[in-house]
Amino acid sequence: MNYISTRKKGKPLSASAAIMKGLASDGGLFIPEAFPQEFSQASQAKLENLSFPEFAAEILQPFFEGDDLKKKLSDICQKAFNFPLILKAVDSETSILELFHGPTNAFKDFGARFLAFCIDSITNQDSTKPKLVMVATSGDTGGAVAAAFTQCTKIPVAILYPKNKISRRQEKQLTSWGDQVEAFAVEGNFDDCQRIVKEAFLSEDWNKKYNLISANSINLARLLPQMCYFAYASLLHQKSTKQKVGFIIPSGNLGNAVAALWAQKMGFPIFQVVCAHNANQAVSQFFAHQVWKPLTTIQTLANAMDVGNPSNFERMKALCETPELLIKAQAFSVSDEEIKKTIIQVKNDIEEVVCPHTATAFSVNKKLKAGPWILIATAHPAKFEEIVEPLIGRSIDIPVNLQEILNKASKSITIKAELFALQKLY
Ligand SMILES: *Cc1c(COP(=O)(O)O)cnc(C)c1O
Repeated sequence: MNYISTRKKGKPLSASAAIMKGLASDGGLFIPEAFPQEFSQASQAKLENLSFPEFAAEILQPFFEGDDLKKKLSDICQKAFNFPLILKAVDSETSILELFHGPTNAFKDFGARFLAFCIDSITNQDSTKPKLVMVATSGDTGGAVAAAFTQCTKIPVAILYPKNKISRRQEKQLTSWGDQVEAFAVEGNFDDCQRIVKEAFLSEDWNKKYNLISANSINLARLLPQMCYFAYASLLHQKSTKQKVGFIIPSGNLGNAVAALWAQKMGFPIFQVVCAHNANQAVSQFFAHQVWKPLTTIQTLANAMDVGNPSNFERMKALCETPELLIKAQAFSVSDEEIKKTIIQVKNDIEEVVCPHTATAFSVNKKLKAGPWILIATAHPAKFEEIVEPLIGRSIDIPVNLQEILNKASKSITIKAELFALQKLY
């Protein structure tokens, strides 16, 4: 299997090469040259009895055909997915898929851990240069990447985040991993962090010294494992109900939504993919008017979805030409007011406490008719206690993983929003 750029230029690369490179040389994103069709209905019956790590290793095989990582997939999946995913039925039309039981309590642990094990297994072509992972973060990505690389590898990580612009618990998840992770509090906003990382990747000095690796959410190795949980949940659902299912996905950069469309493209029983966005409306406007217009990012209560110009839209468009996409997917926007109302309502109706991101999926569910639907729960509500606790009127139990991090010492270095400020420290 080879991977091509969404912009169609540049030469196709193997899975390992596309993972190491991150972004294609023409500035596009890597997508599979073709989608494997061997998981037909007949073979799906065999798959539904596998554990999630076994299932993922099985359906990822064709995506790594001809690649050195193929024979390591089983081992990588066993080690990467060492925490549960939980599918809960709410009623005959609605289920919840909880993806937040990993080390940093957000779905990003799946992609970050798979990426870490892949990077660690890919032999350094130029072993004289050490690997260095670099990531700019505005929320959950940095924490998941830091946890994954410290727990799965010895590769050092540099995280850049906007100083004083993230929640206290999110900051703990970036700054408490010891010497392998350097956390830089940048005197600027998230866009400044992203700019500095981009400049480092283009800089001759940095590339002479390091084999730089991007752990950004556009990396192929983050999307492939996400595709697996949509395929898996659709099969489990079909096994118990004999029906195809639709997914309602809290969305920002559209990584999860694209992963779900990839699972559908492989023939898994998914009838539709619905994106639930916060007040950032670029995607919902596209589905309403069929015109793509990136917007300036707005801050909302669901901060991990604050994206005005989602980079994975390019993958969504490449996947299916517009009229087809409009049949397979839909998108809606949810205001902060509606998020708050929904958190209270869900608690009263079904005794579930949901995070502000997950609340957008519950809100969109009310607008939709024919199901059945699986709502994706993307983060544990305890990560966003400052928002959720006042609404539900009680405190939320803290999961063990999060408590352990909160007890550790933090360390971060404040830098000016310029590449040279970072350069001085490397
Ligand atoms: C990253 C994130 C999202 C958005 O996911 P995308 O794949 O970027 O669309 C939603 N919820 C939470 C909790 C996240 O961390």
